[in-house]
Amino acid sequence: MKQWFGEPAYKLTLDAGFTCPNIDGSKATGGCTFCDNVSFSPALRTGVTRIADQLEQGKGFYRERFGASKFLAYFQTFTNTYDKVERLKELYDEALGAPDIVGMSIGTRPDCIDEAKLRLIQSYADGSAEVWATKRDEIERPFVCVEYGMQTMHDATADYVNRAHGHNETVRAVELTREFAPDAHLCLHLMSCMPFETDEMILETIKECARLRPDSIKFHHMYVYENTVMAGQYANGDFEAPTLERHVKLAADCLEHMPPDVWIQRLVGEVSDSGVIAPRWGLSKMQIYQAISDELKRRGTYQGVKWQGHGA
Ligand code: SF4
Repeated sequence: MKQWFGEPAYKLTLDAGFTCPNIDGSKATGGCTFCDNVSFSPALRTGVTRIADQLEQGKGFYRERFGASKFLAYFQTFTNTYDKVERLKELYDEALGAPDIVGMSIGTRPDCIDEAKLRLIQSYADGSAEVWATKRDEIERPFVCVEYGMQTMHDATADYVNRAHGHNETVRAVELTREFAPDAHLCLHLMSCMPFETDEMILETIKECARLRPDSIKFHHMYVYENTVMAGQYANGDFEAPTLERHVKLAADCLEHMPPDVWIQRLVGEVSDSGVIAPRWGLSKMQIYQAISDELKRRGTYQGVKWQGHGA
C-alpha cells in the first residue's frame, strides 16, 4: 500500500447485508462446515448497519492508533458479489464515496462472478466509475481487489466441507477476472490442513494456485470455530486439528512455491481465543510469522525459490 499510495491504507471490514448461495439454498444449505460469519460481522457485533457508519467507526480506531488517513472498504461478510449488478453498484458506490476511502476489497466465491459484475469492478479499478469524480485529485490510482475463496483444488475435500463449488469454477473465475477486470488486483485464499488432506495434497493446491498467478494470496490454517458444523465433527473425533509445526512447514512450502512478485496478505488464520475451539497454539500472529520466518532461515530459502519449473 505504501508503494501504491505513498502511505499505508487500512482495511475496514464491512457487512453490506449480503447472504451466500451456500446458505440460502440456491447452491446448498448450512454453509461451509467451517463458516461462522457472525464472528467476523461488524454489524452483528456492534449493531451498526449503515455502510457509512461502519466505515466511520472503523476509521476512528486507525486514525487514533496509527494516524491513518487512507482506507480501503473491505466487503468481507458472506458473499459480496451475490446480488444483481445494480445493487452491487449501489453498495460499492456508497462505500467508495465515503471520505478517505481510496479503494476496496471484495471477498466472494468463485461461482458468484460473471462478465457484467467484473465489468462493474473494472470501472472502479480503472478509475472511470463516476464515484471517483470528486476524488480524482486525491487518488491517482484506486486499489480494487477481488478475493476468491479457492481453499483447495481437491473437490473431495470441498465436498466434505460443503463448499458447493469445484475447482473448475475457481479456474474460470480467475480467467474471467483477467479478461473483464484486468486492472483489478486478484487475491486467492488457500486453507492448509483441511480434513483428510495430506501435505502432498496441500502442496498440489499451492502449486496450482501459483500456476493461476494471483496478484496476492491469503494462506490460512484451518481452525474449528464454535457453533459450526465442523465443531461437531471435531468433537466426534472425525479429524485432527492442525499442529503449529505442520502449518509452519506448509506456510514455508507455500512461500517457496509462490512466484516472487505475489503479495502475501496473510499466512495464518484466526488465533484469538474467543470462539476458536482448535487449534489453540497459545501464540500471537506475530509469533507465528516469526516461526515461519525462522523455518525459511533454517532451510536457507525464500519466496519463489521453487517457483521456476512450474511454468514461469
Ligand atoms: S462461501 Fe463463505 S460465506 Fe458462504 S458458507 Fe462458505 S465460508 Fe460462509
